[in-house]
Amino acid sequence: MNGKIGRCEICQLEIASDSSFCPTHARAADNLREGYDAWNRALGAVLLATFFARLSKLPETGDRVKELVRFYQNDPNRWR
Ligand SMILES: [Zn+2]
Repeated sequence: MNGKIGRCEICQLEIASDSSFCPTHARAADNLREGYDAWNRALGAVLLATFFARLSKLPETGDRVKELVRFYQNDPNRWR
C-alpha cells in the first residue's frame, strides 16, 4: 500500500539501506529473529505469539526490541 518512503517504520528515522527499518531497528530485528530461532532450537516449536508475549515481559529485553515486538504484534504478516 505504502511504498518505500525512506523512513524507519518504527521511529521514522532515515533508513540506511534496502530495509524497512533504520540501522538500529534493523539490528534489533536481526537479534529478534536469532532469538526466535534459538528458542525454537531450545524449546521445540514456539508460537510466535508466545515468543513475543514472553519476550516483552523479560527485563533484559531492550527498548528497541520491544518496539519491534509491538510492531510485529500489530502486523504479524511482516514477520516472515
Ligand atoms: Zn528505527
